[in-house]
Amino acid sequence: PISFEKVEQGPPDAILGVKTRFLADDSPESVNVSVGAYRDAQGKPLVLEVVRKAEKAILEDASRNKEYLGIAGDVKFRQATQEFCFGADAKSVKEGRVATVQALSGTGALRVGAEFLATHFAGTKVYIPNPTWGNHFKIFGNAGLETAKYTYLNPATRGLDFEGMMKDLEQAPAGSVVVLHVCAHNPTGVDPTAEQWQKIVDLLTERQLLPFFDSAYQGFASGDVDKDAYAVRLFESKGQQMMVAQSYSKNMGLYGERVGALNVVCPSAGACARVMSQLELVIRPMYSNPPRHGAAIAALILTDPKLREEWKVELKGIVDRILAMRKGLREAIEATGAPGDWSFITDQIGMFTFTGLSADQVASMEKNYHIYMPSNGRISVAGLTSDKLEHVAKAIRSVL
Ligand code: PMP
Repeated sequence: PISFEKVEQGPPDAILGVKTRFLADDSPESVNVSVGAYRDAQGKPLVLEVVRKAEKAILEDASRNKEYLGIAGDVKFRQATQEFCFGADAKSVKEGRVATVQALSGTGALRVGAEFLATHFAGTKVYIPNPTWGNHFKIFGNAGLETAKYTYLNPATRGLDFEGMMKDLEQAPAGSVVVLHVCAHNPTGVDPTAEQWQKIVDLLTERQLLPFFDSAYQGFASGDVDKDAYAVRLFESKGQQMMVAQSYSKNMGLYGERVGALNVVCPSAGACARVMSQLELVIRPMYSNPPRHGAAIAALILTDPKLREEWKVELKGIVDRILAMRKGLREAIEATGAPGDWSFITDQIGMFTFTGLSADQVASMEKNYHIYMPSNGRISVAGLTSDKLEHVAKAIRSVL
């Protein structure tokens, strides 16, 4: 018989556990640089002005209702998100070869994609960068797929180990899936160069490996939504089949609204229709259909030229603040006379900097300086404010 007494305690989430300890710390010096969410210059969560405007317009539109969306989600959103990802002129989009379903943000898109692969391509091995966003292994593993790591970071240089990456991928069996971060790799902040991406496309094509892109930061890396989509669009331009999970958590700050999409680029319009039917069969028994509100906000911002322009300006402001915090942190650490080269802080891209601090050093930062980050030494630069830079820099200096 079922008795819930038998249920064992699960381990705390690596990042959410840090947040719990931070909230319990009432020191005025305490800093939380663990969260994967943007904070404004006062350290507060930010709702974009353009999001507020879109929400207002949605609320005032009497023609809207609360009926269920279709299984695949909001039609206007699906079309807009496809164009946002691949570009309006993309051949695959024009030829109707992209199967797009709205998803419960990036995580949900990855999970639906993983279930689809597990159902139709059982035995597929999924190659995931080392290190990566912690959830990747569980998402693909829980869907029943075998996972393997490929080399990504060179810990000594805190840069990309491109040779190691290529060597590992060369050994992947044909038909394997390769998870690639489109930009602003989490947690390392290290992306391949344009030239390296060219070589990655060639290798994947030659070895018959399927790219599964995780696009969680389009526009959030450089401030330019087209520039940040470079890798996806490069693969698309080569006529590659691929999967792309998109998230609007960061670039629109819609975290809790759970807005995202899964795109499957197919070789033909016929295959696209069949894939679409199968994606719906994955979704229907899982959560039936996705929520309306966030997708309506994103669709409006993506398709209204005025809102889209305003979004661009706000996004630029966010990216500029992150860049200023990178510069500020690097300078503050260098000012302490800390040994070593700290240029990686300004070289890395996106909201995180991978410090290379050990788990012991991270523990000491927390215990002695009230600075909270995950044990892999990843600092959320977007969580820093000017008034905390010196404190964080001095703490880093002293734990080295
Ligand atoms: N992929 C990566 C690389 C991420 O960093 C995140 C957010 N931490 C996600 C996917 C998914 O986030 P969400 O489900 O909020 O879109």
